[in-house]
Amino acid sequence: MSIPEHPRILYIEDNDDNRMLVRKLLEREGFEVIEAVDGLSGIEAAQRESPDLILMDLNLPFMGGNEAATRLKATPGMAETPVIAISANVLKGDKERSLAAGCDGFIEKPIDVETFPDEVRKFLGGHRESLAESGDEPEYLRQYTHELVDHLERELSALQSANRRLKEMDRLKDEFLRNLSHELRTPLTPMRGYLECLATGDFGPLNEEQQSAVGAITKSYERLKMLIENLLAFAGLEAGRITFHHTSWPVEPLLTEVIEARRADAQARGVELQMEGPAERVELVADRRRIAEVLEHLLDNAVKFTPKGGSVKLSARAVDGDMPGLDLAEAGLSDLDPTRRYVLLSVADTGIGIAPEVAESIFQDFYQADAALNRRFEGVGLGLSISRRIIEAHGGRIAVTSKPDEGSRFHVLIPLLPR
Ligand code: MN
Repeated sequence: MSIPEHPRILYIEDNDDNRMLVRKLLEREGFEVIEAVDGLSGIEAAQRESPDLILMDLNLPFMGGNEAATRLKATPGMAETPVIAISANVLKGDKERSLAAGCDGFIEKPIDVETFPDEVRKFLGGHRESLAESGDEPEYLRQYTHELVDHLERELSALQSANRRLKEMDRLKDEFLRNLSHELRTPLTPMRGYLECLATGDFGPLNEEQQSAVGAITKSYERLKMLIENLLAFAGLEAGRITFHHTSWPVEPLLTEVIEARRADAQARGVELQMEGPAERVELVADRRRIAEVLEHLLDNAVKFTPKGGSVKLSARAVDGDMPGLDLAEAGLSDLDPTRRYVLLSVADTGIGIAPEVAESIFQDFYQADAALNRRFEGVGLGLSISRRIIEAHGGRIAVTSKPDEGSRFHVLIPLLPR
């Protein structure tokens, strides 16, 4: 076998000093050295770099060197790449177990700096160590299998207890959120009562300045209330405790309702609201209040992120599962049940848009596309994740397509009852 002029060696080793030493020794001889620090990233590097030879430390974190060697030998296209173990031959049979695991040779640590490059060259030239002739291979294979199962068992029990801890923390977090939300909600009731008394003049007439102060407080109160409602809804959905009240209702009146409720606010911000109902009568069986909540949230967001002079459009249309259409394909929502019909509710704006790389994360809990926007528009990033949960609880899907600085379009797809 001819040795390449500048052989490429992948060295998988977690110890910095060892990596530096081997790199120095091999580069001096004209070798190219690629490094990886554990078994998993070593396997990745091997697939990516197709080295001429792999030097494998056996004592690696997470996935040991023998296991990585077994994995590499089973990887298409890698079976022929020599994997040479580098390790202290401490226990009887260390070397043999490595060969049984799939290594093609064994270089003992500490490395002999005089002979090391030649040893590597020997393996590059086609030299292989093997158990085949000794007849001991089955015994070492059995020992290696035992080691593997031991390791697997240790990892599984560690994962299990980590999972238990996570679940317990998750439960505590839910409980905390729930308590917090209730505590926050309690003082809202008297605030609202007194604000109403002031606004309606029950406590005597207000001058203009006082009136506008009461108006400002009321606005802040409404925003605070919405944030707390979101937290409560989130805590409830999280714990799986929300029950949905399904009734049958036509879609169009709901669209009108949520649009009209937002008309004044949009006007004040200089944003035009448009609505396009379905071409035919579409009847949904769903929790009307919850679906309204989703649309309200999407509209509020759209208005919030659309600059003055822009527009926001709410539309609805029926979609056949076997003909989803281009806009749904673009949103990744084209894999529908071909035997069903759906209603597609869309909220499109001419706002600041969402960068494609964050378009999926915005439906995750506590996410807001940009920390700077977060400060500018105030929110805790729960609205979209709540919307997603509500829609998914109806067997539906939610997605967004967007172009930065051109606008976003949110797509809500809910299956209709079979006719
Ligand atoms: Mn090590």
